[in-house]
Amino acid sequence: MKTSIATVSISGEFPEKLAAIAAAGFDGVEIFENDFLAFDGSPTDVGKMVRDHGLEITLFQPFRDFEGMPEPLRSRTFDRAERKFDIMQQLGTDLVLVCSNVSPAALGGIDRAAADFHELGERAARRGLKVGYEALAWGCHVNDHRDAWEIVRRADHPNIGIILDSFHTLSRKIEINSIRSIPKDKIFIVQMADAPLIDMDLLYWSRHFRNMPGEGDLPVADFTAAVAATGYDGYLSLEIFNDQFRGGSPKAIAADGHRSLIYLGDEVRRRPDAATLTVADMPRRATVEGVGFVEFSADDTDADKLVELLHTLGFRHTAIHRSKKVSIFEQGKIRLLVNTEGQGFANASFAVHGTSAYAIALLVDDARKAFSRALALGAEPFVQPVGEGEVEIPAIRGVGGGLVYLIDDHSDLGRFAEIDFSPVTDDADIEPTHLRHVDHVAQTVAYDEMLTWLLFYNSIFETHKTPMVDIIDPAGIVRSQVVENTSGVLRITLNGAENRRTLAGHFIAEKFGSSVQHIAFHTDDIFATATALRTNGFQPLIISSNYYGDLEARFGLDPNLTERLRENNILYDRDDHGEYFQLYSSTFGEGFFFEIVQRSGYRGYGAANAIFRIAALKKALRPEGVPRL
Ligand code: MG
Ligand code: MG
Repeated sequence: MKTSIATVSISGEFPEKLAAIAAAGFDGVEIFENDFLAFDGSPTDVGKMVRDHGLEITLFQPFRDFEGMPEPLRSRTFDRAERKFDIMQQLGTDLVLVCSNVSPAALGGIDRAAADFHELGERAARRGLKVGYEALAWGCHVNDHRDAWEIVRRADHPNIGIILDSFHTLSRKIEINSIRSIPKDKIFIVQMADAPLIDMDLLYWSRHFRNMPGEGDLPVADFTAAVAATGYDGYLSLEIFNDQFRGGSPKAIAADGHRSLIYLGDEVRRRPDAATLTVADMPRRATVEGVGFVEFSADDTDADKLVELLHTLGFRHTAIHRSKKVSIFEQGKIRLLVNTEGQGFANASFAVHGTSAYAIALLVDDARKAFSRALALGAEPFVQPVGEGEVEIPAIRGVGGGLVYLIDDHSDLGRFAEIDFSPVTDDADIEPTHLRHVDHVAQTVAYDEMLTWLLFYNSIFETHKTPMVDIIDPAGIVRSQVVENTSGVLRITLNGAENRRTLAGHFIAEKFGSSVQHIAFHTDDIFATATALRTNGFQPLIISSNYYGDLEARFGLDPNLTERLRENNILYDRDDHGEYFQLYSSTFGEGFFFEIVQRSGYRGYGAANAIFRIAALKKALRPEGVPRL
């Protein structure tokens, strides 16, 4: 399998697109005619530029409204074809895409179309060129790859083949297994796109909402497995029309695209009937067994305040690093690190983001394998010097420029706390608050980066997404997308902020893209926790009293329960699977905050409560008389 992408998939000027595509690691590129018509250079110049980047031109497209035309249109389409062939020869590519005819003038009939293609094949052969036929999902007479294949079969010409496009096949829910019987040498190229499931006009859906394989909801892996079952091992070429991508960073979109294809290839080659697909070997997706630790960067002043807050939350200082200014705080299975080093990455992160949770360690089945998979998928490794005899924990760059450390229980990595740290005794007068483990980590990103991070997590780790939810902030909507694993030990909520007046948007703007906005700890008994927190002097986020009146009516709660919730500033939600209790801290400075949840079977994250929580957080951030956030 080789990787390619259509120039139309990303933004920028033509040279900028090519540079981004080459940098992302693609083998080839599809040239869209409009792209180079807009570029001030001859087809020969374009061809040279592409090859100078080490790329191959995989396809020239599109050639529209060809087959089934009555005379005199028919003769004219052949003249047009000859002109396209001229351009192709100057570009230095041998394959052109003909998409099924959408002209009202087109006549139907498989034999008629096959005869046109036979003649086109003759003309292409004279020039050493090939023609691929693609069924557009909205084609006039041909909108199904099975019909396109029948036309290609009857055209019976070595220079005529079929082009498969996952979007056109999957958007119409065409039986995928029909691909398996197509001879592999008649599949000239395979175009890939995914899309979110939206019920809308096919043409509009295709032109605006396609996304990278794995980012949407279509069964692209099943489609690719059917293609691979033919023995096809050629180019998988991304052809993505997406408004957001066209406005995004060419480098980032190209990198996502390459990652999506490598991930797809790896998923598919693991299927028994698709093992012929040539894909670089890499370990399978890492199983996450928990959140190993969360690390904060702070200066000494902020660290004192943070430690005070951690104490009220019932965490005890348990260890101190042997050579660095890093402390460990623990409760239950939760481990929080506070780093006040005056140099290195944590300090640089503090300089940019202020006190923040800049690193998360994921406990995985095999950290070194997970690291090698991440690198194979284009993740950026992070390395910093470690002291003599200290553990070097593999790390990659994650959301907001933060770090994702990878640790496991089966190697020295799991014992980093014993190896690198010395135990200390914390004699602060604090009650344990029954916090057991990290329930979820909420990361805030700019809205247009959400798909990037979704793909990041799902390609490296054995996780999946759940449907996107709208979080109502009084100042706008925040989209929330959850990445979680089946066991539920890893839950990350990705919140996409579109405007900076929302709390999430404000967080990004103030913290310059810092990643972790809140960390939620799990308790088995929220009321026992609330009592212990009070003893420790913890200041909960004060929830509006009106919330509780509405809550009681909405869920038909026992008034005694409502009263206890109100007294303790606990939010409540329920779904078909169970109950959810939530209790929050205020924000630390203008940044992150903590949440405590009790989850009994409940599968969500309290989206219905978010508006109350956000209003309360904003109120706490804004002293009286200061303008609204
Ligand atoms: Mg296509
Ligand atoms: Mg939460």
